[in-house]
Amino acid sequence: PGASDLVIVYHRLPYEEYIEDGEMKRRNHRSPNGIIPTLASFFKDGRKGAWVAWSITDPSLKEFEVHTEVDKEQYPNLVAARVALTKEEVDIFYKRFSKEAFWPTLHTFWERASFVEDHWNVFCKVNRKFAEQTAKEAAEGATVWLHDYNLWMVPAYLREIRPDLNIAFFHHTYFPSADVFNVLPWRKEIVGSLLQCDYIGFHIPRQSENFIDVAKGVMPFEVTEKSGCAPRFLTYGCAVGLDEMTTEIKVNDRTIRLGAHPVGLDLKRVDSALEKPEIQNRMKELREELHGIKLVLSVERLDYTKGIPAKLEAFERLLEDHPELHGKVTLVTVCVPAAKEMTVYKELQNEIEQAVGRINGRYAQVGWTPVQFFFRAVPFEELVAYYAMADVMWITPLRDGLNLVAKEYVATQGKTEGKGVLVLSEFAGAAAEVKGAVLCNPHDPAEMAETCYFALSMHPDDAAARMSEAYDVVSYYDIAHWGQDFLDEVADSARKNGRGS
Ligand code: UDP
Repeated sequence: PGASDLVIVYHRLPYEEYIEDGEMKRRNHRSPNGIIPTLASFFKDGRKGAWVAWSITDPSLKEFEVHTEVDKEQYPNLVAARVALTKEEVDIFYKRFSKEAFWPTLHTFWERASFVEDHWNVFCKVNRKFAEQTAKEAAEGATVWLHDYNLWMVPAYLREIRPDLNIAFFHHTYFPSADVFNVLPWRKEIVGSLLQCDYIGFHIPRQSENFIDVAKGVMPFEVTEKSGCAPRFLTYGCAVGLDEMTTEIKVNDRTIRLGAHPVGLDLKRVDSALEKPEIQNRMKELREELHGIKLVLSVERLDYTKGIPAKLEAFERLLEDHPELHGKVTLVTVCVPAAKEMTVYKELQNEIEQAVGRINGRYAQVGWTPVQFFFRAVPFEELVAYYAMADVMWITPLRDGLNLVAKEYVATQGKTEGKGVLVLSEFAGAAAEVKGAVLCNPHDPAEMAETCYFALSMHPDDAAARMSEAYDVVSYYDIAHWGQDFLDEVADSARKNGRGS
């Protein structure tokens, strides 16, 4: 056994690495999302820990040490334990296989998935390397916290080497129903591996129930369930029926506990953006540029799961059905290009650009552009200025594990005028948590147009009341609360299982 009481296994290191002149250099992450600092914060009190992540090796690299400190001052006893992977391994394991086989299936777009046996073999090999490194780091009875589907096979390999460990897993994406998940050729291996965990967390109860259905279907033995309530869903009494969930399953002699933990935000990021004079100026500029035109905002990555063409179709319909809105409302859609030039993304981009061109060609007037399409990443702080100015935040993914943009909008509105309306797809995990949102079906352009119109015409008092409910949820269950809550549940489950932690 190693020396760490808590081992975090995450696909990214807490900092970014790059190779220059044969040496490994580091810099801060350019897009910090709150999760990394939250996970690192568990080591602020001097707790002994390790952070296992991959590191790309390259023949030009003069030397490579597995261990390196993360930040001696902030986290005196946290080491990074790096799993050396070649560029080819990362390309296959992370960029290709995870995105081509697992991402589409997890988001119920299984017909887009491609399953390549050789890639699965690389995936398993890489997962085994992660498990072996983790086994070396963890002290007797330590807690290991694994993150996301890229590491699905780690629990199986890790349990083989270290039966003493308290293994916890958090899914950051959607988890589909059994009839979709079971399309995966390796479903039995994956579920068998996950059932080696002591605790498995999802964003919302529905995703956890889906996992149980999958387990029941693919395992040759009986799964017995025990239900309880999901406290944070009960507290805010969101959609009916979501406060009950299965909290425990027994598979043979093992008990696996399950929980719903929707990832929260670091609200300080929003607050500090709002305090900056340049962001206040940007808000003023936007107000002037809009000169009374209502702003409907859409922010997402370029991905078929995000439902951008359907949203544009719905916006066209809104303008068709409501000529009184011409010249009075603009849709700004921020779309972050995909990291890699895959043809499927190129086709989607073309489809979006054509739709934007068609709508603007049909309706634009001098001084009014109905749709403004930004095909680039906007820095987070500037996004906050847009969130503050948006009358309607229109988030309509066809499927989304949670959706942080929805929460960021609420966090910003809660600190500013607070009269904006969040219109959210019922297929986004956040719809089960964020009370006060107007829900819509992203497969139905007519309903989407109607709900957008409803939001645009809502009385400011009603909008403020809804926003205040939403803000209560978002500000209460923030990222620190999420992390602590998850670890508390994991510790509780370890005690019940008679493990040390
Ligand atoms: N984001 C950003 N700039 C952009 C668009 C998005 O910084 O131009 C950030 C946004 O603030 C959010 C994240 O990207 O934190 C997107 O997270 P979300 O859960 O909404 O979707 P995902 O991309 O993870 O599916």
